[in-house]
Amino acid sequence: MKNRKLLQTTIAGSLPKPSWLAPPGQLWAPWLLEGKRLEEGKRDAVRLAVRDQEHAGIDIVCDGEQTRRHFVTGYLEHLDGIDFEHLVTMRIRRRYDAKVPQVVGRVTRPRPVHSDDLRLLRAETDHPIKFTLPGPMTIVDTLQNAYYKDRPQLAMAFAKILNREARELEKLGADVIQFDEPAFNVYMDEVRTWGIDALETAAEGLKCKSAVHICYGYGIKANNDWKKTLGARWRQYEETFPVIAKSGIDQVSLECHHSHVPMELIGLLKGKDVLVGAIDVASQKIETPAEVASTIRKALKYVPAERLYPCTNCGMVPLPREIALGKMRALAAGAAIVRGELAKRRAR
Ligand code: ZN
Repeated sequence: MKNRKLLQTTIAGSLPKPSWLAPPGQLWAPWLLEGKRLEEGKRDAVRLAVRDQEHAGIDIVCDGEQTRRHFVTGYLEHLDGIDFEHLVTMRIRRRYDAKVPQVVGRVTRPRPVHSDDLRLLRAETDHPIKFTLPGPMTIVDTLQNAYYKDRPQLAMAFAKILNREARELEKLGADVIQFDEPAFNVYMDEVRTWGIDALETAAEGLKCKSAVHICYGYGIKANNDWKKTLGARWRQYEETFPVIAKSGIDQVSLECHHSHVPMELIGLLKGKDVLVGAIDVASQKIETPAEVASTIRKALKYVPAERLYPCTNCGMVPLPREIALGKMRALAAGAAIVRGELAKRRAR
C-alpha cells in the first residue's frame, strides 16, 4: 500500500444526463425514451459518464446514476410494498414539499436492482469503482409511511434490503459502496437513536469499503434558502461525526468548498477516510485547480493524506453537462497540484 496514489479523486455520485435521455436541469426528470430504447439509452449514458470521468482524470469512477430518475425513488420503484400510483405531498428534510410514494405493505425486493448496472460499470472501466445507494434514513424521509409502526422500524426494513443489494454489488466487483444520507444533517437526534443502526445494518459484512455521503443537498432553490437559515457556521456535522467515527463505516463524504462548515470538524472523523467536497455543486462557476488545491491543503491540516479523497460537495445531476465536466477536470487538476507538493515534501 506504500506506493498507493495519494489524494485519489472521486465524485459524490450523480452526473447530468444526456439531453436525449432526460430533460436537463431538473430533479425527477422524466425519461425521454421508452422500452428497449430506454434500456439501451441508459447503458450508453453510463458509458459516457464513465468516459467523462476518466478523461477528466477522476480516479474512483461511478455510473453517474444514469439509470435512475432520482437517487431515492430510483431505487424504491423496484421494490414491492410501495404505492407509486397515489403520490402524496410531504415535507422532506424539513425543507421542501415533494410528491412522494406511500408504503402500503411489507417492503420486499423481488429481485436485485442494480446488478446489471454494476456489471456494466465494471466492464466499462479498469478504475476502482464506487456504487451509490440511498441510505435507510433518507429513504424513510422520502416516502409516506402508512404501514410500519414507526420510522425506525421502516428504516430497518430498508436497511436489510440494502444490505442484500450491497453484498451482491460487492461480489460483482464494487470497490466502494456508498450510502447517501443527507437526512443525517437534519435529524441529528434520530441519527443517534436509530439512523446509525440502520446505516450499519445496511453496510454489515461488507469487505469492500463502505461510505456514507452527508451533505447540504443539491444546488436547488429550497436547499439554498435553507442554507441561509443555518447561520455563519454550520455545526450539524459536529453532532453526527462522533457517532459515525464510532461506527464501522469506512469513509465519509462531506461538503466543504463554499460551505460554512468549519474545517476543523473533519478532525472528528479520526480513523475514517474523508471524501472532502472541493467542488461547489450549487454554483455554475467552475472552480480553478488552485481553488481546489487550496481546499485540499486546508483539509490536510485535519486528515492525513492517506485518508483524504478530493470529491464534489454533492451530486451534479442538476448542472449542465459541460459545467460538470469542467468541475471534474478542476477537481483532478487541483488534486494533482497538491499530490505534487506532497511528493516533493516527502522526497526531501
Ligand atoms: Zn449530497
